[in-house]
Amino acid sequence: MLDLNQIRADFPILSETVYGKPLVYFDNAATTQKPRCVVQKIEEGYYKRNANIHRGVHFLSQEATEAHEASREEVRAFINAKCANEIVFTRGTTEAINLVASSFGELLQAGDEIILTQMEHHSNIVPWQLLRARRGVVLKVIPFNKKGELKLDELENLISSKTKLIACTHVANSLGTINPIKEIIRQAHAHSIPVLVDGAQSVPHIKVDVLDLDADFFVFSGHKIYAPTGIGVLYGKEEWLEKIPPYQGGGEMIDKVTFDQTTFAALPFKFEAGTPDFIGSTALAEALRYVNAIGIETIAAYEHDLLVYATEQLSRFDNIRFIGEANHKSGLISFLIGTIHPYDLGTVLDKLGIAVRTGHHCAQPVMQAFGVEGTVRASFAFYNTKEEIDIFIAAVERAKKMFKQ
Ligand SMILES: *Cc1c(COP(=O)(O)O)cnc(C)c1O
Repeated sequence: MLDLNQIRADFPILSETVYGKPLVYFDNAATTQKPRCVVQKIEEGYYKRNANIHRGVHFLSQEATEAHEASREEVRAFINAKCANEIVFTRGTTEAINLVASSFGELLQAGDEIILTQMEHHSNIVPWQLLRARRGVVLKVIPFNKKGELKLDELENLISSKTKLIACTHVANSLGTINPIKEIIRQAHAHSIPVLVDGAQSVPHIKVDVLDLDADFFVFSGHKIYAPTGIGVLYGKEEWLEKIPPYQGGGEMIDKVTFDQTTFAALPFKFEAGTPDFIGSTALAEALRYVNAIGIETIAAYEHDLLVYATEQLSRFDNIRFIGEANHKSGLISFLIGTIHPYDLGTVLDKLGIAVRTGHHCAQPVMQAFGVEGTVRASFAFYNTKEEIDIFIAAVERAKKMFKQ
């Protein structure tokens, strides 16, 4: 099992206080904290290995290049991609989805259809709307039921001969729902439709195997898996990455440039214009090693325990409303208490040292479906404890009394 004392010692911020209270950090779905080894990797990168990668003949450049490419291989192994060429470094999930919307979008024509779900993060909605404005594609939406589970029986009706892509989140950041993504991909492939999976909330918390899922595109952000901000990943099947045009032009992504014509570099460099975040990539690889050392299955089981415990404790409040009650949930809870505005509840919790997120969680269509303006969201990571949940529950109780609910 987890050695929580050791783990918590690896994350210096967890020993901080806010307003004189010990910090309880339950905002992990927004971003995660960083272990010492990840921050050290960044420092070491700048102090010992800093030189622009690729093309350099000198020692430091070669070292930095090797570290960057070794990180790509670590990412490949972590999600079990077939080859490292299928791993493109991006700034994060948002940029990766924009890349696919832009480049894959080049293959589409007016009237072609893309299927999304009602529980997408804005970053898996808006890029497709921008594409719709550019190319006249049609967007269709898989709805969810009262528990926040996708109504997959409607998928067959939404699919048509014009469907060109399904873009779906693996785990919903506002609801915690874990979607049966393998089944969705199987259904899509039965119609020869490729699938993009938004893995921002799955990769940090559950085992992901892109080969087993048979995902065509799979994206995630470093900062949600204990790595720094500014680095993320697009996995794409080689055949797709070969087929779609580059996203941005510049250095790194070219083979031969003349004013008449330019040929592009091989994968994955075709999609990595400009100097990449070669320090961030090594820090991401370090974070993945850290997660591997604990074991993603162990993490998933422990976070599930936290979810079950917190849900039980919150259920004791007579006027609690859970937003998202899927049978398969990851470790996050969206809720409301009576008529307390989520912002007010969040503010009281903050004053008691507890960091939660309030609002629409970049998923306004989800809030609209539930008829709420926003929710309070507590989201867990493997460094959280049941003691912290007890502190959180006591704080909710206190807020409930304050607001006479
Ligand atoms: C956080 C998140 C995103 C956006 O990630 P960025 O790191 O902000 O690019 C997209 N989808 C889901 C499900 C998320 O949780």
